[in-house]
Amino acid sequence: MIQICAFYYFKPLTAQEVAQLKLELEQMAEAQSVRGLVLIGREGINFTISGPPTTLEIFKSWLTTRMNLKNPEFKDSFAEKHPFHVFRVKIKKEIVTLGKPDLVPQGPCNHISPEEWHQKLLAGEAVVLDTRNDYEVEIGKFKDAIDFDIKEFHEFPKKLEESGIAKEREVLIYCTGGIRCEKAMLEMKNQGYERVYQLDGGILNYLKEYPRQGFEGECFVFDYRVAVTQDLKPTEQYKLCAHCGQPSTTEVSCSLCTQPGIVCHHCQTQGITACSKNCANHARLGSNSRRPHLAEARKRHRI
Ligand SMILES: [Zn+2]
Ligand SMILES: [Zn+2]
Repeated sequence: MIQICAFYYFKPLTAQEVAQLKLELEQMAEAQSVRGLVLIGREGINFTISGPPTTLEIFKSWLTTRMNLKNPEFKDSFAEKHPFHVFRVKIKKEIVTLGKPDLVPQGPCNHISPEEWHQKLLAGEAVVLDTRNDYEVEIGKFKDAIDFDIKEFHEFPKKLEESGIAKEREVLIYCTGGIRCEKAMLEMKNQGYERVYQLDGGILNYLKEYPRQGFEGECFVFDYRVAVTQDLKPTEQYKLCAHCGQPSTTEVSCSLCTQPGIVCHHCQTQGITACSKNCANHARLGSNSRRPHLAEARKRHRI
């Protein structure tokens, strides 16, 4: 049994502290056989990591002391295998990229609990706004939520300006684990929205208490699980498109090597019918002159 822990924490750090923390995180991860991706920067830390439950607990309590974290909210889920191959720490300007490094959350701002969120959904008076990307929204979202059809989070500020959502409306914002909303909240306040609330701990926290209620579909996650179900278990229906990395359920037979592969409907409408980027490249080359021999393609796929 592997435990998966998602976590973020905004805390001002100096460049020197960031570099030192990176070293210690790497040492700790190696000692405890923890895997995953950690983003750290001058504004704090953001990660999803995985490991056996006992070692992950050691890692969490070490980090809490090491960074002097106050009431850290670790969001845990479980899987049968690691959703990461390795452990990596990346130093970033922003630990979630809104494209506005000056907007740094200074503590909790208008968080509401899953219970309060659920009640507000039932009341049905507020605008529910999904701050995530289009491919995440596509496989699951809160019923009646609107979204900005964005490919990346840094598009959010401009889309908000153009949205026409009345400034006096109550707006409920949410994302996967909460970090994007911390920044979206500040941006919304800057643009004059006063009655904004964010779902504490995001969809992952809501599903823990209210599976199969306000949220419909599955929740996309940025690791090899692709998505989690209403019970926070790894998805069984979605895999990543070999060409664009978006979730898809569509299996195709490769037009080049005949192996099965996952190609999302967006890529299919672009005429892509190859099982992999490799085959797609060769198919493109082939349409010019050098169509690779099928045996060659088979060798590449080790069959
Ligand atoms: Zn695709
Ligand atoms: Zn192929």
